[in-house]
Amino acid sequence: MSRLEGRVVVAGGAGFLGSHLCARLIDRGNEVVALDNLITGSLRNLEELVGHPGFTFQHQDVSNHVYVPGEIAAVMNLASPASPKDFTEIPIPILKVGALGTHNLLGLAKDKGARFFQASTSEVYGDPLVHPQPESYWGHVNPIGPRGVYDEAKRFGEAMVMAYHRHHGVDVRIVRIFNTYGPRMRPDDGRVVSNLLVQALAGKPLTIYGEGEQTRSFCYVDDEVEGFLRLLDSDYVGPVNIGNPNEFTVRELADLVLEVTGSTSELVFEPLPTDDPARRRPDIALARSVLGWEPQVQLREGLERTAEHFAKVAGLGQEGDRR
Ligand code: UDP
Repeated sequence: MSRLEGRVVVAGGAGFLGSHLCARLIDRGNEVVALDNLITGSLRNLEELVGHPGFTFQHQDVSNHVYVPGEIAAVMNLASPASPKDFTEIPIPILKVGALGTHNLLGLAKDKGARFFQASTSEVYGDPLVHPQPESYWGHVNPIGPRGVYDEAKRFGEAMVMAYHRHHGVDVRIVRIFNTYGPRMRPDDGRVVSNLLVQALAGKPLTIYGEGEQTRSFCYVDDEVEGFLRLLDSDYVGPVNIGNPNEFTVRELADLVLEVTGSTSELVFEPLPTDDPARRRPDIALARSVLGWEPQVQLREGLERTAEHFAKVAGLGQEGDRR
């Protein structure tokens, strides 16, 4: 494993994961060009990097032709809205960025002789019939349901990446990302960790979809990004699952959120969204063996750090706000 040096393009660089990735790349000495159309990303996520000599930002929708002047060592594709709320609100931009965006960025990588890194997802497994999910599982996805816009775009993305690898010889890596949380998630993102933390801090009821018996396995953002960099620097094409294998029901998560925030909010039960996966947990044997990677941050600690972030940005959890 040798560290990739040089200039890295991060598509989706102003997003939750993209901005953490940009910061880590700059820290270790890479130059970074962040691309983002700011549809769900925010320049606030990049505040600490703006003005750094190794960092530039290009306001760009990668679903259209992508032009980046100069030499590039790697193109990392993290461009896509990724919350189920986005799947119903902006389905067509999601399909476009997963398909056309991935194609354009692969074209850029091919042109520059750069390594290509694709952020794929546990959603390629759909509502899985195999548990936990190994990379060898082909998945159980409803192509015409509301989640299909993201799942199928990401599945197409993987196919496109492998076609560029096989047909054009582009050096590629594919990561499958499982539920990830941490500072810089949007407070109104719609995902379970941000919703429950923000609700608890504001003294509002915690929304549980269905009975809350469905499971997810939550990975803290620093662990996730460490996994990305290890895969980027490796010579393993993938796909590789990067996620935390500790599995929780949504109700267990809600209990922990109440404990961590000291909130006395009640739980309210709302309908389960269509095609909501019943369980999800990564098999990370491959990441352990080829990357020597496993997560370090436990859920309680990660939730504490994330709650601090929401308390700051949303002005929540101060005296008087809690019931
Ligand atoms: N969920 C919930 N309450 C919320 C938001 C989500 O109970 O306020 C549930 C959702 O139905 C799903 C799980 O939490 O079963 C994780 O949802 P999320 O949107 O975070 O991501 P997903 O893993 O479904 O892509």
